[in-house]
Amino acid sequence: IRSKLPRVGTTIFTRMSKLAEDHQAINLAQGFPEFDCSPDLQKLVDKYVRLGKNQYAPMAGVMVLREAIAEKVFASTSHQYHPETEITITSGATEALFVAISTIIHAGDEVIVFEPTYDSYVPAIELNGGIPVFVTLDPQYESIDWGAVCSRITPQTRAIMVNTPHNPTGNVWKLNDLQQLAHLAEKYDLLVISDEVYEHIVFDGQPHISTASIPSLAARTFLCGSFGKTFHTTGWKLGYCLAPSALTTEFRKIHQYVVFSVVTPLQFAVAEYLAEPAHYLSLSSFYERKRNMFLDAINDTGFAMRPTEGSFFQNASYSNLSDENDRVLAERLTKEVGVASIPVSSFYNEITDFKTLRFCFAKNDETLLRAADALHKIV
Ligand code: PMP
Ligand code: GLN
Repeated sequence: IRSKLPRVGTTIFTRMSKLAEDHQAINLAQGFPEFDCSPDLQKLVDKYVRLGKNQYAPMAGVMVLREAIAEKVFASTSHQYHPETEITITSGATEALFVAISTIIHAGDEVIVFEPTYDSYVPAIELNGGIPVFVTLDPQYESIDWGAVCSRITPQTRAIMVNTPHNPTGNVWKLNDLQQLAHLAEKYDLLVISDEVYEHIVFDGQPHISTASIPSLAARTFLCGSFGKTFHTTGWKLGYCLAPSALTTEFRKIHQYVVFSVVTPLQFAVAEYLAEPAHYLSLSSFYERKRNMFLDAINDTGFAMRPTEGSFFQNASYSNLSDENDRVLAERLTKEVGVASIPVSSFYNEITDFKTLRFCFAKNDETLLRAADALHKIV
């Protein structure tokens, strides 16, 4: 058949996980926690399954979960999303992002995308006939070049994709970035799709500043979130989209024909678990310790690293160690050294050679130390 995504193959996450399995390598490639979610959360799932919450949820999500999200977001941003009309529970952030893009992108619309970029955005834009317009950044960039963003805006620009904390660089947007975004979005009447799935994984005392905390942004943003990262439940594929009611109305027209609704007992369980802020507010320190441990353990290997500001990914440049391109090195390290990573070139549209690998440190301490030990053998 004639492919709608001729340039797309199997994702790099699936390929590197498979390679890790085939070679029994430590998988620091695909981003998922090695540890389980809390037993209390598991008990809540069990409770709601037994209570018979096993049929279709309402299309927009169960009301108690929408209310719990509204309360949580209000507490951190002072923005009130209305559970009835502005909050939709989705099958992970992936569905939220896909549906948000489908909701607003018409053929020929341009969308500003920062690269390196998470892999699901561009195919979603292209399937809707949109045109991704890239603002290219270095894999260990420290700040957004807003002049470059401005220069990419044309009369066809419809939207801008935001991801903070960022996968794969870990970059966390500062207040100035949000203000610049708000200014450009208003000036050029752009919509914003903001991927904030790592909102609770931010280091060194820096805050996560949500698009929801800036009223003029909240008024034109689809905020996409996920419980996968926050509760160590990536396999549940439970996420949400927050957006003003006019946008949400259109969003739901598509969501209802993509999945209709998402898994019922998990929604009830997460709603109850969210009531206790300690369940997510300790996540940054949990991962900051792991980041530091990983950095210390590979500090003397020759990799050059700027400590990641957020997310559970650390980028590492190996230009002092090897001339190989990153795909070749990532494959060789998996097979010969026994550690799988993600070549950062996979997050770029054009072929790049930044000589950088992404390591996921959402792993047990012992796994991280074993991986670091093995990485000393890179030659
Ligand atoms: N956005 C980013 C930046 C991610 O890293 C991920 C998770 N891998 C997603 C979206 C997708 O989240 P979910 O698993 O909830 O669909
Ligand atoms: N978000 C995860 C990562 O960046 C992967 C999720 C997936 O495999 N699609 O590694």
